[in-house]
Amino acid sequence: MDERYSRQILFNGIGEEGQRRLLAARVLIVGCGALGSAHSESLARAGVGRLRIVDRDFVEPSNLQRQTLFTESDAEKRLPKAIAAANHLREINSEIEVEPHILDVNHSTIEQLLNDCDVVIDGTDNFATRYLINDACVKHNRSWIYGAAVGSYGVTMTIRPNTTACLRCVFEEAPPPASAPTCDTAGVIMPIINVVASVQVTEALKLLTGNINDLHNSLLQFDVWRNETRAVNPGGPRPDCETCGLRLFSTLEATAKDFAAVLCGRNAVQISPVAPTRLDFPTLAERLRNSGDVKFNEYLLRFRTKDFELTVFQDARSIVSGTDQIATARSVYAKYIGN
Ligand SMILES: [Zn+2]
Repeated sequence: MDERYSRQILFNGIGEEGQRRLLAARVLIVGCGALGSAHSESLARAGVGRLRIVDRDFVEPSNLQRQTLFTESDAEKRLPKAIAAANHLREINSEIEVEPHILDVNHSTIEQLLNDCDVVIDGTDNFATRYLINDACVKHNRSWIYGAAVGSYGVTMTIRPNTTACLRCVFEEAPPPASAPTCDTAGVIMPIINVVASVQVTEALKLLTGNINDLHNSLLQFDVWRNETRAVNPGGPRPDCETCGLRLFSTLEATAKDFAAVLCGRNAVQISPVAPTRLDFPTLAERLRNSGDVKFNEYLLRFRTKDFELTVFQDARSIVSGTDQIATARSVYAKYIGN
């Protein structure tokens, strides 16, 4: 341990005791896209002992510009991001435990995922999942580190339930989709990803090593193109906050409408089955072969028709590409996969 982590142990804030704490820690990384790539690589190199990585998607060529853990070969094989990430992280550091989950983080999965984790890092791309993380972390008293980037702008905040403001204290409601730039309209450059992810990872290291007084305690915003940095004090927990004040965890309750989600910037919709199931790919492929082009590997099945492409995971969760309309995606899913 001393040789591998020697430069980090020499650093005052960490030392031998801090390194031991890192090796004993478990971190949940929600989403392994651009931010999640940076989080997981940095934490693996730092020697955080257990990384639980959750992602619902697979690697595509358009990811490679900023999702630094992935390679052309991952995109060619359409590997699930969680699996591709775990493969590379194990090459980077074989001494830690990497636990990949090909899963949609939703009301039925989040609480179990964070159950035995010390810190949660946000690598998602949408407010719905962030409110879900916020609800679960406040309910179970786990610290989590919000982060987002679009264009050349990024923002981050560290949330410690009952001590700091939570995400809902600061953003009572998600900005309406049309008013905020999203990856659909604005694109994103990699440097801002690295800035936001670096601050998030540093905060995680402080939390895990008990350096609470060194946390930045602000809503930090950066624009690396316009050369602007801003730190706003988010204040403490708000007594009237629905989440941390009133402890109403609305996103953790299931409703049928939660089972479809438009995917940011993808012209695609994710459909999840209402009841858990396990698909047999060879059988499904046989059934679909007359309706279009079918290919499958160990993790997913890809089915292409003239207008749509379906990527089907083993639990029957599917990504329907070629539409951003939930109703259209639902009917494509019902037609080929089932209800
Ligand atoms: Zn709150």
